[in-house]
This record gives sequence, C-alpha cells and structure tokens, in this order.
Amino acid sequence: MPDTHVLILGAGPAGYAAGIYAARAGLTTTLLTGSTPGGQLMLTHEIENYPGYTNISGADLMTTFQQQAQAVGTRIIMERAEKADLTKRPFHITTNAGTVWAADTLIIATGASPRWLHAPGEDTFRGKGISVCATCDGFFYRNKKVIIIGDGNTAAYEALFLAKVAASVTIIARGNRLTGEHNLIQQVHQEPKITIIWETEVTAFLGTEKLTGVRCRHTQTGLETTLDADGVFEAIGHIPNTQLFTGQLAMDENGYLMTQKYTGATSIAGVFAAGDCQEVIHRQAIIAAGSGAIAALSAEKFLTTPGTPLT
Ligand SMILES: Cc1cc2nc3c(=O)[nH]c(=O)nc-3n(C[C@H](O)[C@H](O)[C@H](O)COP(=O)(O)OP(=O)(O)OC[C@H]3O[C@@H](n4cnc5c(N)ncnc54)[C@H](O)[C@@H]3O)c2cc1C
Repeated sequence: MPDTHVLILGAGPAGYAAGIYAARAGLTTTLLTGSTPGGQLMLTHEIENYPGYTNISGADLMTTFQQQAQAVGTRIIMERAEKADLTKRPFHITTNAGTVWAADTLIIATGASPRWLHAPGEDTFRGKGISVCATCDGFFYRNKKVIIIGDGNTAAYEALFLAKVAASVTIIARGNRLTGEHNLIQQVHQEPKITIIWETEVTAFLGTEKLTGVRCRHTQTGLETTLDADGVFEAIGHIPNTQLFTGQLAMDENGYLMTQKYTGATSIAGVFAAGDCQEVIHRQAIIAAGSGAIAALSAEKFLTTPGTPLT
C-alpha cells in the first residue's frame, strides 16, 4: 500500500496550492487530480482577476500551478478518489484504479460544480455569452444588457454586482418571489437598473455567431417570449463534490464541508478541506488557493507538533 504524509484530493487552485506548501515543508505530498485536472478554471478562456496575471486563460494559469507543484516535489497522480475510510489514521483512500493510499493527513480540495440549466444553445455559448460567475465575468459586460437566471441569494448577489457595471440587469425568476436574505432582496428591489420577470423559465439560448438572448416560457400560462441580452448569468446553485464523505465529515445542509476558521480543519483531526468544497460565499480562485495554503500549513503543524492546538 503506497503511503504519504499528505494526500490531496483535487487539482484546482486549492489542491495545487496545498501541494506547493506541503511539499516545500518537506512532507511527502501526493495529489490525486480527479477527472478534471486544473478544476473549474479549465472552463474559462479569460481570467483578469488572478493577481500577477493581467489576462490569462484558465488552462494556462492551471498549467503554471501544476508545474510549480511538481517542481517542488508534489507527486501528481491522474486518479479519482472513490472510497474513503476516515475511521482511523492513517486514512485510507481508494482510487478508481483500485490503489489504496494510506495518508497521515488528508486535504480535501474537490471543489464544487456549478449547476447548469442544460437548455438548448447552452453548449454553444458557455463561456462565450453564458457565465456562472458575475465576479469573474461581469467586467466583460460593462454597459451591456445582461440576464440573470435564478431567484436565490446567489442570483441577488450577482444582480447587485452586475448592476454596478452593466447597462441593465434582468432577473428571470421561476417563482413569484426572491428567496434568501431579507437585506439583499431589499437592495435588489431598490436598485433601479434591476428588473425582475416572475414565474418564468428559460427554455433556450439564442444566437448564431454570438449570444443574442433567451427564449422564455411563463410557468403559469405557458406563453413563450424572447428577451434580448448580451450576456446571461446562470445563478441556480452549486453542488459541492463531497458525496464521498457523507456520514463521515460534518457538512452543512447543502453538502459543504464544515471547516474551522484559520486552519481548514474538518470534524476529524488530520483531515483538512480547502477551496470551493467548503466555501459557501466567495467561490474564487485566489480564495481557493489561499485556503489550500492554509490547509497545508495546518497539516504540517498537525504532523510536526502533534497534540498542540492548530491556532
Ligand atoms: C466558468 C467559470 C469561470 C470562472 N472564472 C473565474 C475567474 O475568472 N476568476 C476566479 O477567481 N474564479 C473563477 N471561477 C471560480 C473558480 O474556478 C473556483 O473558485 C476555483 O476553481 C475553485 O477551486 P478549487 O480548487 O476549490 O476547486 P476546483 O477548481 O473545482 O477543482 C476541483 C478539483 O477536484 C477534483 N476532484 C473532484 N472530485 C474528486 C475526487 N473524488 N478525487 C480526486 N479529485 C477530485 C477535480 O478533478 C478538480 O481537479 C470560475 C468558475 C467557473 C465555473
């Protein structure tokens, strides 16, 4: 059975940053990439908010992360964790190739997958008119017309964020009210740039060369309409990739891992989490990378000074 001081699950910004810090601390460090080496950023062509890069594609940015992690000694294995036994240390992780890793510490950096609508036209315009992240892509819609699909907290946040840059923001809500924080909803209702279309669902994304709008259907009357837009932001939620740990680690009601502030510690000593799998609000690469570094530093402290508090 291969063993390692630190086993990292995930090859996004959180996983690679954890790899860089753990390997540089002199720990044997192994990273399982899962099925998407590079993580969610592989879906985006332009990143303008990662410090140090004025404009870089997701793939190029993640290649530098990978090269840096490897250069300092992180062993990178293109396998996915399929089973976890966290009942005792070393923890045992079984991969899709059948390898069982014995890990003194585990860093979970498996991310969260955005929910997509799966409506016709989405594949054509994904990343080219359709986005799932206003903080990431809002800037590209300065003084343009945008639509937000969703009626929860995320939709409200995205709408307020986009109202600062876009010419107009239309929220398409399936229900007849916005759900979520009262304050946030009040701000949405008070923002003159935001219009809400109630009881409506998007049935298709329209356009030829570029996205020009959406087709919608009223959920009560079935009436179909089209709406023009330069960009559409889907805000219908994320699914944290944490199913592997159900029943073993403490999670919130949506499956996000519960972690301790400042350390990334989970409910089991020696297991840490970083990035979007434990980040409910600020799902951003820089934040994921920072939390990966924190988790690795905590793992190092856990291994080198056992029994002392992590903070
Ligand atoms: C379209 C899009 C555009 C974005 N643009 C930006 C942007 O411009 N700027 C910005 O800051 N943020 C952006 N984001 C958000 C950013 O991508 C995420 O916040 C960040 O990638 C989270 O990093 P992470 O390491 O936590 O997880 P992820 O990047 O999601 O990586 C998760 C990793 O875990 C692996 N994994 C999953 N399950 C397993 C398993 N069982 N075993 C082993 N490995 C596993 C996956 O293969 C993957 O490598 C964007 C997101 C999307 C979807």
